[in-house]
Amino acid sequence: MDKYEQVIELAKRRGFLWNSFELYGGTAGFYDYGPLGSTLKRRIEQIWRELFVIQEGFMEIETPTVGIENVFVASGHVGGFSDPLCECKACGEAFRADHLIDKLVPVADALSNEELDRIISENQVKCPECEGDLGDTYEFNLMFKTQIGPGSGRQGYMRPETAQGMFVDFLRLARFYREKLPFGATQIGKSYRNEISPRQGVIRLREFTQAEAEIFIDPENKSHPNIGRFADTVLNLYSDAAQEKGEIEKMTIAEALEKGIIAHEFLAYQIGLTNLFLQRVGVAPEMLRFRQHKKDEMAHYAMDCWDAEVSTSRFGWVEVVGIADRTDYDLRAHASVSKTELSIYREYSEPKMVTQFVVKPNMGKLGPLFKGKAKMVAEALKELSREELEKGEIKVKIDSEEVTVPEDAVQFAEETVKVSGENIVPHVVEPSFGIDRIFYTVLEHAFDEEAVPAKEDEEEESRIVMRFRNETAPVQVAVLPLLTRKELIEPARNIESKIREQGLLVSYDDSGTIGRRYRRNDEIGTPYSITIDYDTLEDNTVTIRERDSMKQVRTSVDGIEEVLYELMYKNRDFESAGVAL
Ligand code: AMP
Repeated sequence: MDKYEQVIELAKRRGFLWNSFELYGGTAGFYDYGPLGSTLKRRIEQIWRELFVIQEGFMEIETPTVGIENVFVASGHVGGFSDPLCECKACGEAFRADHLIDKLVPVADALSNEELDRIISENQVKCPECEGDLGDTYEFNLMFKTQIGPGSGRQGYMRPETAQGMFVDFLRLARFYREKLPFGATQIGKSYRNEISPRQGVIRLREFTQAEAEIFIDPENKSHPNIGRFADTVLNLYSDAAQEKGEIEKMTIAEALEKGIIAHEFLAYQIGLTNLFLQRVGVAPEMLRFRQHKKDEMAHYAMDCWDAEVSTSRFGWVEVVGIADRTDYDLRAHASVSKTELSIYREYSEPKMVTQFVVKPNMGKLGPLFKGKAKMVAEALKELSREELEKGEIKVKIDSEEVTVPEDAVQFAEETVKVSGENIVPHVVEPSFGIDRIFYTVLEHAFDEEAVPAKEDEEEESRIVMRFRNETAPVQVAVLPLLTRKELIEPARNIESKIREQGLLVSYDDSGTIGRRYRRNDEIGTPYSITIDYDTLEDNTVTIRERDSMKQVRTSVDGIEEVLYELMYKNRDFESAGVAL
């Protein structure tokens, strides 16, 4: 078994991850989170909330997972959210054409379908399932289609990302934040992509969880007031230039900004925050790098884009987070499709005198002439240019009918006015996290197998330990009565209740030998185990065992719940938490 298989085997056996619909034979691209998996995932999401929502003030919103067509026409997903699909002519299996040749060329996903077909044919690539010939590559849209309402209904789509909800709510959000940039909104929720052939476990799912922040910033001021927080943070940077050399560079954020490697402070701050988050949930720092999108790979509207990539045993470097400056692309696209201005009023630091061309329709004259349509005529007049107004015969189109407006019904002139601000379309910095991928890398980086020193007359054995960080460990304390005797069960159950009431998640386990129970808890990464034995009845003490060091100490039952809380959340060790040695 390679490490991936070992991790997945443990994850299934211990209730982290199960194949969805297993009872019916399962289907690729879907996973259930079992009791421990669900808890671990929530803990990861909670740390994300603490950093992005509580500390940054980017409030969380919740928008539907089903979207109407216009939303995805504007976002470009209806037109262009597709992957190259190629099918086997013999067995009918479908494949991502770029994945079939990604070992043959450097950036397969940047190639056109014609180029993919050419490389497949030149290299005589065959169907990986049956060796049959492959058909031509074509684009397959990854959105799941659905129908809203009965009958012919309205075309709907399952959202392929959570981001669009924040863009669609832009005007409401701007008002909520009292029209002041920068502001941000976040969403944690399910996204859906009908991936062509998901053969990579939780790395490529058809239903997955994203945590995204859309941060609306002033296009002319991308400095960050708190960049000092991460100035000295050292990153493994794999910039465009570093990729040319094939070498990751270690660099502080301040240096990367100074050298112009990261485009601006706002983006750099998000990279710093992402780095902090990933390490806090348990991604090993040496297995984490930030890779810049190369020019030919970056979306045409983006100005700079970085992926947080994590090294995995089977899949190599995996993108777990994308962080991009998306400029004003999304807001302009939604403004154009919805025909609604999506902008924000920005005050100048000092008012400016501006010469403007002003059109003043005379309603006293337009009213009697155009009756109910007078207002529409007035609005149409305001859109005309000086040349059109000076032509003599002024014409406007109302409801596709051309009407002529007498010259004396409208005045126009150039006026110099004092302007104290203007409407601008904000730029957007977006960190987009794939929680399931992060979840898997946390599992893999926590997984450890180590030899346990043998006691006298015993054979050396090994143990598997999930070295979760205390904050993410799903089960926090195991309560283990040495024997299933009434006199031990009662105090053990009392201790269990006290710890639960402290808010820690406890597993009460009384089956099997104590050694077995320790192993079981090591495998699910429980940081502390408490053993209740006959001495407990004599002197009101228990044994606390630490998962990583396997160190054991005796301590008093009184106040044990607080001691455990300190150990768990304040990163104390036995001594500083006041545990008797
Ligand atoms: P994207 O919008 O493609 O940049 O995706 C944002 C993040 O979502 C990525 O960094 C991944 O972590 C995650 N992600 C994208 N597609 C999938 C998928 N099919 N399964 C699981 N996670 C995904």
